[in-house]
Amino acid sequence: MKKQEKLTELNQKWMVECVCKLRKTAKQVVLGDGSAEAEVVFIGEAPGRNEDEQGRPFVGAAGKFLNEMLETTKLKREDIYITNIVKYRPPNNRDPLPEEKTACREWLLEELKIISPRLIVLLGRHAMNNFFPKEQISQAHGKLLIKSFTGMPTKYFYALYHPAAALYDGSMREVLMADFKKIPKVLEKIKN
Ligand code: URA
Repeated sequence: MKKQEKLTELNQKWMVECVCKLRKTAKQVVLGDGSAEAEVVFIGEAPGRNEDEQGRPFVGAAGKFLNEMLETTKLKREDIYITNIVKYRPPNNRDPLPEEKTACREWLLEELKIISPRLIVLLGRHAMNNFFPKEQISQAHGKLLIKSFTGMPTKYFYALYHPAAALYDGSMREVLMADFKKIPKVLEKIKN
């Protein structure tokens, strides 16, 4: 079975089985989006208002900024895969609660196992702490992080400030853009 078919099957299963309470308040599920064959997977925090309305991740202001940063690298949005640690919008864009993250965790891990990217880019502290609970985003951003998870071939991670947090903060924005530009080099390093 092809990776895309496996992903479709996985999503159909979890759309029925996910016990996340956010299902009750969100308009719809926001599934991961992009190439199932991607070398790089980006993981955000949770869908916002625009994503909840359109059913696709990173289509609002943060998504526009992400697209601009992608353009500064050789990566194209259609060649990457992008998803969130929770698949439903938290009310009023509040932070997802620990139990909401836990409810969607297995879904995300299975998604990553199917895609098996070379590199996982963690957008913001929530995405990073899902995999590296002890790291601080202010310390870990822009560094290659290495950790093995059972059944997951990918062990390389790269944390960035979240585009929504950096959007209106000049200095954080500069740091994020500089870290982002290093992604192709990080990929090369992993390949060698
Ligand atoms: N922010 C996220 O973390 N995810 C989205 O899908 C949109 C905004």
